[in-house]
Amino acid sequence: MKRSWEGVVLKVMGAKDFTLHVTGRQEITPDFLRIHVRDGGLLSSVGLHPTLWIRLWFDDAGKGHQRAYTVVNADPVAGTFSMDFAIHDGLAADWARSVQPGTTIEATVQGSAFAFPDTAPRRIWVVGDPASLPAINSLLDERNAVLGTAAPVTAWLEYQHDADPSIEVRASTSDVVTWVPRKRDGDALVEEVVLALTADTVSAVDDFFWIACEASSTRAIVKHLRKVLGVDKHRIDALGYWRA
Ligand SMILES: Cc1cc2nc3c(=O)[nH]c(=O)nc-3n(C[C@H](O)[C@H](O)[C@H](O)COP(=O)(O)OP(=O)(O)OC[C@H]3O[C@@H](n4cnc5c(N)ncnc54)[C@H](O)[C@@H]3O)c2cc1C
Repeated sequence: MKRSWEGVVLKVMGAKDFTLHVTGRQEITPDFLRIHVRDGGLLSSVGLHPTLWIRLWFDDAGKGHQRAYTVVNADPVAGTFSMDFAIHDGLAADWARSVQPGTTIEATVQGSAFAFPDTAPRRIWVVGDPASLPAINSLLDERNAVLGTAAPVTAWLEYQHDADPSIEVRASTSDVVTWVPRKRDGDALVEEVVLALTADTVSAVDDFFWIACEASSTRAIVKHLRKVLGVDKHRIDALGYWRA
């Protein structure tokens, strides 16, 4: 499989490559599949942080295309982890639908990072969807471990399938989680979030914002935070997780 030019750039940047061995597949919902892998030394080599994501290489007619997936349930001692696939029509999603134990897949690690602000945030605002839910759960775990309930989370999660809201969100009782159906190409989510994030509800200097949904929705929410509410860019961690 010949990798695209991105493979060459990643190599120059010092990316690390690994071969993952698929050991099983589990249906969380019909549209959310968990794939278990042996890590090929990945976890001991790169270490763990919340929201850790890797680049998987999928073959399309002999050409390698990378797609980002989040590491879940990592066990560095056993050298195993899983990945949750939100299912749609796509190269990566199709692979997850049909992959069998014994299959291998190449993975590259480069560019993943996460840190809460130095001082504990007053509140953490999160916007995501099933694709970023694995990362959100790792962020909630880290919040629970490091900050306790001192920094409550308010989260909006956009969904497209009826069963999506049944997927586990590891929130605590002081958190508020709202599932929002995807409507009008994501505008419904953006409007609900922007209406809720106002100068009265948000502290531009003390709050932390983690935004990872569809790319144009992510951009619109970040623009609101920066331009309307004047939030410093260091208090915003945002990345479009997929593109409509
Ligand atoms: C840092 C990072 C971590 C990520 N972690 C995860 C993860 O753990 N689990 C996960 O499921 N995804 C994750 N994603 C998102 C995933 O990389 C994208 O959804 C990717 O586009 C899927 O590739 P594909 O080949 O299946 O579809 P593509 O070939 O990219 O797209 C095919 C079609 O599917 C649509 N599409 C793509 N993704 C989605 C989606 N999520 N929902 C609805 N429609 C979609 C596109 O608009 C397009 O029409 C992550 C993304 C980033 C940036």
